[in-house]
Amino acid sequence: MDWRILLLIPLLLLVPRRKLGRYFTLGELTKTKTGKPNVPPAAAVANLQALVSYVLDPLREKLGPIYVTSGYRSKAVNDALRSQGYQAAKNSLHLQGRAADIYSKQYTPAIVYGTLQDMKSAGAPIHQLIEYKGHVHVAI
Ligand SMILES: [Zn+2]
Repeated sequence: MDWRILLLIPLLLLVPRRKLGRYFTLGELTKTKTGKPNVPPAAAVANLQALVSYVLDPLREKLGPIYVTSGYRSKAVNDALRSQGYQAAKNSLHLQGRAADIYSKQYTPAIVYGTLQDMKSAGAPIHQLIEYKGHVHVAI
């Protein structure tokens, strides 16, 4: 065995815990239940970082804990979701790390949506904002 592989193990364990902002980790914004590989390229990580600092962190400050069901999606993940019948557009901004599907345990999607709408009116760079039954889709 190549002993250098041992050096990679702590790295692989730490990457998902990498903080993207104040409240969110890279792991939270890249998790998937599809079992498909979902490692974002550097450009997508930069987009996730912007999403967190301009939208998710400020929202967290207003509403308390915010949960992410889907952030970055690789093409493999997006295709898997599509084939499972989920609403996952072919050119989804999730593919660029610019979108997140989020919910609060404390507030309804309507409240989360309204809060984001207010943030957008106040100048937050929100490009897409859609309220669904159990979550809100937000993208920069
Ligand atoms: Zn979405």
